[in-house]
Amino acid sequence: MEILVIGGGFAGVWSAAAAARVGRDHASAGARPHITLVSDSDEMVIRPRLYERDPVQMSVLLDRVLKPIGVERVHARVIDIDTAARAVTVADTMGQVRVLDYDRLVLAAGSQVLTPNIPGREFLFNIDTIAAADTLEQHVRKLASVSDAHEGRFTAVVIGAGFTGLEIATELIGRLRELAQANSAHARVILVDRSTEVGPQLGEGPRPFITSSLEQLGIEVRLGSGVSEVTDSQVRLIDGEVIAASTTVWTVGMTASPLTAMVPGDRDPIGRLIVDEYLRVPSTPDVYAAGDTAAATVEDGHVTMQSCQHATPLGKFAGYNVAADLLGLPPVPFAPNPYVTCLDLGAAGAVLTTGWDREVQMTGSEAKAFKHRINTEWIYPPVDDEAAILAQADYLYTWSLD
Ligand SMILES: Cc1cc2nc3c(=O)[nH]c(=O)nc-3n(C[C@H](O)[C@H](O)[C@H](O)COP(=O)(O)OP(=O)(O)OC[C@H]3O[C@@H](n4cnc5c(N)ncnc54)[C@H](O)[C@@H]3O)c2cc1C
Repeated sequence: MEILVIGGGFAGVWSAAAAARVGRDHASAGARPHITLVSDSDEMVIRPRLYERDPVQMSVLLDRVLKPIGVERVHARVIDIDTAARAVTVADTMGQVRVLDYDRLVLAAGSQVLTPNIPGREFLFNIDTIAAADTLEQHVRKLASVSDAHEGRFTAVVIGAGFTGLEIATELIGRLRELAQANSAHARVILVDRSTEVGPQLGEGPRPFITSSLEQLGIEVRLGSGVSEVTDSQVRLIDGEVIAASTTVWTVGMTASPLTAMVPGDRDPIGRLIVDEYLRVPSTPDVYAAGDTAAATVEDGHVTMQSCQHATPLGKFAGYNVAADLLGLPPVPFAPNPYVTCLDLGAAGAVLTTGWDREVQMTGSEAKAFKHRINTEWIYPPVDDEAAILAQADYLYTWSLD
């Protein structure tokens, strides 16, 4: 009995751990499913932290989670999924190609930001991966040594006033101000969005606090606008405004992994596989999807978000169900914890909301302390400890908010 998990992010790691837990609890040692996790990285990347300083530190070695629970890891890139043959083709770091067979597959290959096809797109930074976030980090550090003559030296334009755009914009203004003050210069951050509101998908609840935070931090906003061209020293907006800026960060347009297109099934507009209540792809029932590759319908018809908060339980339920399926146990329908968002707003603190209507529960430094605990404790898996990892792999596990 072979379970194959594609992806070593929140969804993939917790799928593998939850499947291992089912094996431990419901089968004798010899009858447990064999679990393999294939990822193109040795690390589980803590993506929600990539807007922070020193992004290269935001990862956990996969072996510290997978080895203690007996999950085999393959470091390779998946290049093909053949659901009819139940076979996944991978290429390792040396380019060697091999085929991994499976009885049940969990696709948890995540998402990626799509940069636009505009002149100068090569000058756009993003914070989608550790490598991309570190490129931005190194660029920001070097700004202190760039020639004084450049007008936009300490100016950043952030495209997208959604969750990621707001977090990086409010982080960057602090970083740039530090550098600018040391050089007797002025720092600017300009947030650009096609929408007529900041945080277009965050709703009415947190907007007043977000808006006042942007004002407090001196972040300029250009709404109903977009970018038409970028160079290494300026940005042209669609209304013709030209902003001198050394740094332009793109945060818009998350799309599911292209591997989703290799699984027969219905997909939503951002490419996610539409799954049933057990997280199976209905037309390909040997395949389950979790995390940013899956669109699951939850409370009152809401669809899961591409978020760590949903990727983690999606992973646990998918892992449970895939192992249960092989062992003849009844599947459990997906039910996440109540929906919460916590948006970091740099020196202005943070805003915590609950529910799909995003009712504000906490703001400012109190919410910032909550965000700090999310980012430094709650989203990390336990390491080097089989009992702790398997305990947290329970789909009923909830964080203690004490
Ligand atoms: C800057 C930023 C801030 C965010 N902030 C928040 C937040 O505050 N709260 C929140 O809930 N969410 C946040 N998110 C979203 C959250 O990080 C994602 O929803 C979450 O990481 C999804 O988990 P996942 O396991 O589905 O995918 P990922 O974490 O993307 O993991 C995918 C895995 O698949 C692997 N993979 C991909 N393709 C292949 C392939 N072809 N072959 C082999 N392996 C492959 C990758 O290496 C990776 O290990 C943020 C995201 C970003 C980028």
